[in-house]
Amino acid sequence: MDSLKFGTNGIRGRTNELTPSAALEISAAFAQWTGGVGKTIIVGRDMRLTSPMLAAAAKAGILRSGCDVLDIGLASSPSCEYILHARKADGLIIVTASHNPPEWNALKFVDKNGVGISRERGKEIEKIFSAGAKPAEWKKIGKCIEYAGACKDHVNAMMKLINVSAIKSRRLSVVLDCGNGTAATVAPQLFKALGCNITILNEKIDGTFPSRPSEPTEANLKLLISKVKETKANLGVGWDGDSDRVIFICNKGNFIVGDRGFALSAKLALEKRKGSVVTTVATSKLVEDVCKKYGGTIHYTKVGAPYISEKMHELGNSCVSGGEEVGGIVWPELSLAKDGFFAAAKIVEALCEKQTTLSAMLNELPLYSNAKTKIECKPSQKEKTMQKLAKYAKEKGMDAIFIDGVRINLPDGWVIVRASGTENYFRVFAEAKSEKKANALMQEYSELVKKLMVS
Ligand code: MG
Repeated sequence: MDSLKFGTNGIRGRTNELTPSAALEISAAFAQWTGGVGKTIIVGRDMRLTSPMLAAAAKAGILRSGCDVLDIGLASSPSCEYILHARKADGLIIVTASHNPPEWNALKFVDKNGVGISRERGKEIEKIFSAGAKPAEWKKIGKCIEYAGACKDHVNAMMKLINVSAIKSRRLSVVLDCGNGTAATVAPQLFKALGCNITILNEKIDGTFPSRPSEPTEANLKLLISKVKETKANLGVGWDGDSDRVIFICNKGNFIVGDRGFALSAKLALEKRKGSVVTTVATSKLVEDVCKKYGGTIHYTKVGAPYISEKMHELGNSCVSGGEEVGGIVWPELSLAKDGFFAAAKIVEALCEKQTTLSAMLNELPLYSNAKTKIECKPSQKEKTMQKLAKYAKEKGMDAIFIDGVRINLPDGWVIVRASGTENYFRVFAEAKSEKKANALMQEYSELVKKLMVS
């Protein structure tokens, strides 16, 4: 169980690594960390074949530490996070491997403030786990209460925060791709209630992902793209397995990359109220452009959802939007979690209020091209090379951010170099106004990293 360490977002593994006994012990440690006896922890899970087994283990661990469990069963990650917020519970464990292949699974931990447990904060829980969480005495073992209304509550909460009458009067046609995931527990109900004309793809919940891989990439959303074109829909929406990520297909059938969808959401939020916007250092400069133009202040974090929720919690009411490059969008009035349903409903609301199309809204945003590559390295080279690169940027007086790897902002683009946390690579990502410039930047910094690796 030595490999049981918190990654960027929880503890991930296949059945031989993330075993039921490991899940039980780490969940017991988390329960003790939240305060132990008398606290209530919510447990939700996705439809993966190993999820009921791991959720049962997590519940046993929590009960053994003397906490009560509110078991919401099969639910999307955003529904779990909404219930945590609505019930003011003391913590949340979600059993889901998000967009990963079906043989993977993970436990995600969220504290009472709706902030995900990052690698750094996870160390406190790992410590309890290593020493062994203390079982409560028999009289104080927790109680488990099952609650089947989580998805419905989540839909109702969203309906209260959305301009439903504006949407109902326009009856948009929307294609929903649930990808055999938890999206099917919320999306059809929500968009029906909003009065949209819906076409649903891959609605059957199935942990083997028979129709398409879970990650909502352009290649994996081919069917959705063709359905939007075929039905001349106003919008296409695709989710990953646990529905925190959302990707939009515009009325012209174009795939919209994650940070473009997020930049548009940040713009819509800033139009209603000026404030802070939180995103990771790997996100397109587009979000910074939107902040400059619409009166927002950008805050960069490390890459990973827990860091976004951590910063948003710290900023409190001044924060109007958060998100990340892969299609995660946070509207903080509902929760501090990426919520693929609410993000989609807010886009539909904007289309109706503004009486416009998604492609027209996106046309108002600047266009960027990007290029990326990876460079193989030895684990021992990671830290030193990154230090050398940071020193290089400082000595040259460059406009650089050192929150996670090294991000260098240049007049005509930017580049980020990060050492992978799980693999032996440096990742180089560049963005610029033209494809040619993005490629040139990516090349230039790849060469620089290679030079620094050997010098
Ligand atoms: Mg996900």
